[in-house]
Amino acid sequence: MNLLYKKLIPDMYANSIYDIDFENLKKRGITSLIFDIDNTLVPQKVLNPDRKVINLFKFLKSKGFKVCLISNNTTKRVNNFTKDTGVKGISWAIKPRKSAFYKALEMLDSTPDETAIIGDQIFTDILGGHRVGLFTILVRPLSSEEFGWTKIMRKLEKKVLKKV
Ligand SMILES: [Mg+2]
Repeated sequence: MNLLYKKLIPDMYANSIYDIDFENLKKRGITSLIFDIDNTLVPQKVLNPDRKVINLFKFLKSKGFKVCLISNNTTKRVNNFTKDTGVKGISWAIKPRKSAFYKALEMLDSTPDETAIIGDQIFTDILGGHRVGLFTILVRPLSSEEFGWTKIMRKLEKKVLKKV
């Protein structure tokens, strides 16, 4: 398997953010969590985090996890989530570029080996996470209503996942 291909394969899969075994992550030495927003926390069209998301973040903080958000979407979009959840976030991340991931690590005061990225897209969240040495968790996208570039990438993702 070539190197790029390896970087597309998540370390862990989960049906949703609520199905992740966070205790298991703790045992692996992971203390910091970086979440994607669109189709990971809520469907892309939903403007604000729901009660379930807010409660999950509260739970994670109570368990001692450090949490932040990283999104390729706009600052306005990200602010809706940081405001209601009380965690910090990075907008216009241009994942899979590395710079925003490094910024997130700095925000969390964490090292790559103690940090996981949780997202729904292989070519942004998983690839970007692997490029900086994070533990990567792929969740099933919450909405299949997508347009343009994302749609094309989804087709490619399906091909990659078939081979795994
Ligand atoms: Mg996403």
